[in-house]
Amino acid sequence: MRIMAAPRFQGAVSQVPHQQRIPAMQQRIVVVGAGFGGLEVVKGLAGAPVDITFIDRRNHHLFQPLLYQVATASLATSEIAWPIRSLVWDRPGVTTVLANVTGVDAKRRLVLLEDGATVPYDTLVLATGARHAYFGHDEWEPYALGLKTLEDATTIRRRILVAFERAEQEADPEKQAALLTFVIVGAGPTGVELAGTIAELARDTLPREFRNIDTGRARVVLIEAGQRVLAGFPEDLSDYALRSLRKLGVEVELGRAVSDCSADSVTYGDIRLATRTIIWVAGVRASPAAEWLGAPADRVGRIQVMPDLTVPGHPEIFAIGDTVTVNGPDGKPAPGIAPAAKQEGRYVAAVIKQRLRGDAEPQPFHYRHQGSLAQIGKRRAVIDFGWMRLRGALAWWLWGIAHIYFLIGSRARLSVAINWLWVHARNQRSARLITQGEAQIESPENPTAKGAVKANSPLG
Ligand SMILES: Cc1cc2nc3c(=O)[nH]c(=O)nc-3n(C[C@H](O)[C@H](O)[C@H](O)COP(=O)(O)OP(=O)(O)OC[C@H]3O[C@@H](n4cnc5c(N)ncnc54)[C@H](O)[C@@H]3O)c2cc1C
Repeated sequence: MRIMAAPRFQGAVSQVPHQQRIPAMQQRIVVVGAGFGGLEVVKGLAGAPVDITFIDRRNHHLFQPLLYQVATASLATSEIAWPIRSLVWDRPGVTTVLANVTGVDAKRRLVLLEDGATVPYDTLVLATGARHAYFGHDEWEPYALGLKTLEDATTIRRRILVAFERAEQEADPEKQAALLTFVIVGAGPTGVELAGTIAELARDTLPREFRNIDTGRARVVLIEAGQRVLAGFPEDLSDYALRSLRKLGVEVELGRAVSDCSADSVTYGDIRLATRTIIWVAGVRASPAAEWLGAPADRVGRIQVMPDLTVPGHPEIFAIGDTVTVNGPDGKPAPGIAPAAKQEGRYVAAVIKQRLRGDAEPQPFHYRHQGSLAQIGKRRAVIDFGWMRLRGALAWWLWGIAHIYFLIGSRARLSVAINWLWVHARNQRSARLITQGEAQIESPENPTAKGAVKANSPLG
């Protein structure tokens, strides 16, 4: 078994048990996952006398709320993702490791990596997030594309752009109609945002560039098993979102669950709709962190953590973000959104520092909801602050400002702002690039063609 060196022995991989090498005083903190939660833990531990090993299977931190803008060719990948190393370059006590974690040996306090190496810890923080899930129908995955990673987003972008290209050359009207039918399953914020933006892409951006097809006639169909779009929002905002989507030409199908997805169709209720592009934003499944620890989990695999966000029976292991469920004092679970993961990350950093100081046990974690936002299309958004609700153009401006504010660094903020200005003033979307050669582009019939990254593969 290879034992990966603790941060202060950077670079070396040791065969010597870690206990002989680490000074007793220097706490070894391992944080798995450099998403919203994990990054906040590392930030919160700045200045603490700890060695941190920061592990992620990707080399970047991703701003998932704007992934749909990459998928719809509005933004480039580098505008919503940052190399993890670049975020912690000024923290000598933080060692970044690109690796896929496959388990935890809680007895020996080791994190297990896919290549057989192990990383020792005194305190472990698991912030490994969640992925989309198909309600027990994993066989739909090649046809119904999920949206969680940059690869997912560029795969969807490619699929949408290629569908328009193929429709332009297609003589058979039925095949052309199927190519120009875009189906989104799940009418939560991401489904609504995708549907509105694809409709705008087809109606506002593309028409003048195609000669044989009227891209404005493309069908965008949003399917939702429940009775409302944006079910997490108050009813009046849901109604506004529904009306706005319909104004954009989106066909919204409520109260119908999808029963089949294939290479050339989707079936919902008693309808079979011919399509070549299905995007799946309907369900989530937590990372396998609960399985690694044999910890109690809910039905989607989220660890049921203690009020101080530790894993039951393991005060030295914290778990946060989308991979856990924790009830607030009101008994309601914290939602699976970025602010919850960030608040949990900040809380865990504070608890670790309290423990280092030998202070009393902390108050239980308390989630504070700051508001829910969703964009529907240009100058249309909804915001629910709890104490105030907004919709329309003002909500859209606030939505834009909030998202730009939460990006990392001035370059990304400026670049995103300029791109949005271009979309809104000129209907131009600059990221409309199909980056694989035509022969290599994966399609529903050929989902594993070269260039089709299996998004959930390790280091994918
Ligand atoms: C398309 C989309 C849109 C969203 N929109 C919004 C929004 O508008 N507003 C909002 O508040 N929230 C939104 N969310 C939810 C929000 O992004 C999540 O709640 C948040 O990212 C959770 O943070 P996390 O730290 O728990 O997990 P993540 O941010 O997902 O980070 C998990 C990290 O762990 C790494 N990882 C996972 N498994 C392993 C492993 N085995 N080994 C090593 N590394 C691993 C991953 O690579 C990743 O970097 C959206 C999510 C998606 C997918």
